[in-house]
Amino acid sequence: MTTTGADVDRLWSRPAHQIVTGDDYVESLRGRDLKVHYLGERVPEVVDHPVVRPSVNAVARTFDLAVDEPELATAQSSLSGRRVNRFLHVAESADDLVMQNKMQRRLGQDTGTCFQRCVGMDAFNALFSVTFDCDATHGTPYHERLRSFLRYCQEENLVVGGAMTDPKGDRSRTPSQQHDPDLFTHVVERRDGGVVIRGAKAHQTGCLNSHWIIVMPTMRLGEEDRDYAIVAAIPVEHPGLTYVLGRQSCDTRAMEGGDIDVGNARFAGQEALIIIDDVFVPDEYVFLDGEHELAATLVERFTAFHRRSYVCKTGLGDVLIGAAAQLADWQGVGGASHVRDKLVEMAHLNETVYGAGIASSHEATQLPAGNFQNDALLANVCKHNVTRFPFELARLAQDIAGGLVATLPSERDFADPDVGPLLDKYFSVGPDVPTEHRVRMLRLVENMTMGRNAVGYLTESMHGAGSPQAQRVQIARDVDLVADMGLARRLAGIDRDPPDD
Ligand SMILES: Cc1cc2nc3c(=O)[nH]c(=O)nc-3n(C[C@H](O)[C@H](O)[C@H](O)COP(=O)(O)OP(=O)(O)OC[C@H]3O[C@@H](n4cnc5c(N)ncnc54)[C@H](O)[C@@H]3O)c2cc1C
Ligand code: SF4
Repeated sequence: MTTTGADVDRLWSRPAHQIVTGDDYVESLRGRDLKVHYLGERVPEVVDHPVVRPSVNAVARTFDLAVDEPELATAQSSLSGRRVNRFLHVAESADDLVMQNKMQRRLGQDTGTCFQRCVGMDAFNALFSVTFDCDATHGTPYHERLRSFLRYCQEENLVVGGAMTDPKGDRSRTPSQQHDPDLFTHVVERRDGGVVIRGAKAHQTGCLNSHWIIVMPTMRLGEEDRDYAIVAAIPVEHPGLTYVLGRQSCDTRAMEGGDIDVGNARFAGQEALIIIDDVFVPDEYVFLDGEHELAATLVERFTAFHRRSYVCKTGLGDVLIGAAAQLADWQGVGGASHVRDKLVEMAHLNETVYGAGIASSHEATQLPAGNFQNDALLANVCKHNVTRFPFELARLAQDIAGGLVATLPSERDFADPDVGPLLDKYFSVGPDVPTEHRVRMLRLVENMTMGRNAVGYLTESMHGAGSPQAQRVQIARDVDLVADMGLARRLAGIDRDPPDD
C-alpha cells in the first residue's frame, strides 16, 4: 500500500519542536501513534511503556547534559549560526571530533547503557562529505538538501536515527541476487517529486525514540544494485513504517514493579526492526539515489566515524570497574593483590579502547566538503578492541562479584515478611554495609554483563558498527605493508638509503 494524504503531508512539512530539556524531549515523543509491536501486542504509547521508558530516559540525558554542560555537549555550528546539540553537529575541526568522544564517555558513565544518538550524528557527518562529492561528480542537488534538513534538525533539536543495516538474507549474495528483493531496502518506483521505498532495517538503535530516521545502504554496491543505492530521511511517525521491538535479556523485569531486580532502573538501550512499506519520500529528503559507486565510500566514512564512537563503551567500563571495586571493598577482598591486579587489568583494557578512539579523532583531516574526517585505521583498531575487551571486563567483574551475581533471590523475596529478614541476615557482609546496597550492586553487574544492558555492553560491542571481521578487512586495507617492508629492508641493509638521507 502506498501511503499518501494530508496527514502524511504534515509530517514532511518540518513541524516545530524546539526541544531544550530532557523533559521537552520526552513530551515531543508523546501521542505519535507509532505502529510498534512488542510481545505480540501493539504498544499504545511507547513513552509510558515500562520496558521502553528507560531507553527514552537515556536519550533524554543527552538533552540535559547539553543544558548542564554546554561546553561538553553543544557546539557552535557555522551551518545554522547557532550553538547546537553536539549530536547534530558536523565536525568543523579535529577538536570537534575529540569532544564528541569525551561527551560519549561521559554519557556512558551517566547512563550505563547505549544512549542511542550517535548513529544519526555519524550519519550526518559521513553524508556531509559524500553528498558534496556526489554533487561535484554528478551535478546532483544532494548536498544543499542535506544542509537544509540538518539545519532544520539543529533548530528544533531533533533526534535522528541512522538506519544502515538491512536484514541481508543470504550473506554470500548481493542485494539483487537475493531470493526476495526486499531483503535490502530499495527504490520500487520513481515518480515526479520523489521515490517510493520498500524493505526493512534491522537492529535499529533508538528508532522509536527518534523524530526522523535516515535510511542508508549497508554495503558496497554494483551497477545491478543501483536501486539499493538510496539515502533518504523519513519521519518516524510515517504510517508506512512498522516497528517490532527487539527483546532484551531480562527485559520484562521492568514490568514486575520494584527497582532492584532490573539492575539499572532508569536507563536502557533500544533496538527494533523497521519495516518500510512503500513509503513515498519527496525529493528534498533524498540524499542519494542510484549513485551506486558512492555506497562503499559512504559505508567507509560512516563506519570510520562510528567505530571510534564506540568509546561510549569506556563510560560503561568505568561503571563496571566501579561496581567491581565497590563489591570487592564491601565483601572484604578489596586489598587482595589478585583483586587489585584484576581491577588494574580492567582499567588497562578500558583505557586501551579509549586511547585508540580518541587518537583517531585527533588525527582527523579536512575533506573538500570542509568537514573533518577521523583516522580510519585507528577507528577500526578502537572498534576491534571493543569487540573483545568489554567481554574480558565483564568476566573479571563477575569473577570479583562472586556467584551471587547469578543466584540472588528476587526483590519480592527480600520484601517477604517471612524470608526477607533471613535473606538480609545471610547475605550480610558486615554491620556497615546494608544488604540492600550489596544486592543493588550485584544486580547492576548482572544487568551489564548478562541482563538488559549486556545487549549494549557486549553484543552491541561485538556487532554494532560491524562485526569483528569487518574491522579486520578495513585494517588490512589501511595498513601500508609495502611501506613497512621498505622500512625493514632498509634497516636490514638490503635497500640503499635514499641519496639525501
Ligand atoms: C545492539 C545492536 C545495535 C545496532 N544498532 C544499529 C543501528 O542503529 N543502525 C544500524 O544500521 N545497524 C545497527 N546494528 C547492526 C550492526 O551494524 C550489525 O549487527 C552488524 O553489521 C552485523 O550484521 P548482522 O547482525 O546482520 O550479522 P551478520 O552480518 O550476519 O554477521 C554474522 C557473522 O557472519 C559473518 N559474515 C557476514 N557476512 C559475511 C560474508 N559475506 N562473508 C563472510 N562472513 C560474513 C560476520 O563476519 C559475522 O561473523 C546494531 C546491532 C546491534 C547488535
Ligand atoms: S552503541 Fe555507543 S556509539 Fe552507538 S549509539 Fe549507542 S552509545 Fe552511541
